[in-house]
Amino acid sequence: MLRSFASVLAVSAVLIGGVACRADGLIPRPFSDASESGELPDGGVSVDSTSPAVTRLRPELLRAVRAAAVDALADDLDIRITSGWRSRSFQQTLFDDAVRTYGSEREAARYVAAPGVSKHVTGEAVDVGPTDAADWMSRNGSRYDLCQVFANELWHYELVPGGDCPDLLPDASSL
Ligand SMILES: [Zn+2]
Repeated sequence: MLRSFASVLAVSAVLIGGVACRADGLIPRPFSDASESGELPDGGVSVDSTSPAVTRLRPELLRAVRAAAVDALADDLDIRITSGWRSRSFQQTLFDDAVRTYGSEREAARYVAAPGVSKHVTGEAVDVGPTDAADWMSRNGSRYDLCQVFANELWHYELVPGGDCPDLLPDASSL
C-alpha cells in the first residue's frame, strides 16, 4: 500500500514537472488552447497583449487600435480589446450559442456574424471596451481609420482607409 502510494507520488512529480516546464516557457505555448482559438478573458486584454486574438489581427488594424489607445489614455480611458481575431471554429461556437439564445439562425445573425462572413475570422475586426472606451472610439475612431460598422455594436470596429466611415448598418445580419 505504502509502496503504491509512493509510486503515485513519483508519477505526480513527473506530471507536475512537465507542467512546470511549460510554465517556464521551455515549450513555447504561453497561452491555453482556448486562447489559441481567439478567446479572451472577461474584460478583455491590453492592446499590447501577445494573445493570438490580438497578434493575429491584421497588422494595419492593430497599429490603428494601438495609436487610438495611446491618445485615449490622455483622456484617462484605457481601451481594452475584448475580442479580436477568432478561429473559424470559435466563431461557429459563438454563432451556435446565439442560435440557441435567439431561437433561429436569422435572429442570431443580427448579433453574431456567421463564420463565413465574420471579419473577426479574417483578423479585420476588433471589439473594444469597456463602454466608455467604446464610446470614445465611436466619436474619435475615424481619426485612426477605425469605423463602427453596426448600429447595435458600439464596440465593433473595422479599418476603413481614409477614415471616411460609411453609414452604419443596422446589425450584422445586413452582411
Ligand atoms: Zn465584433
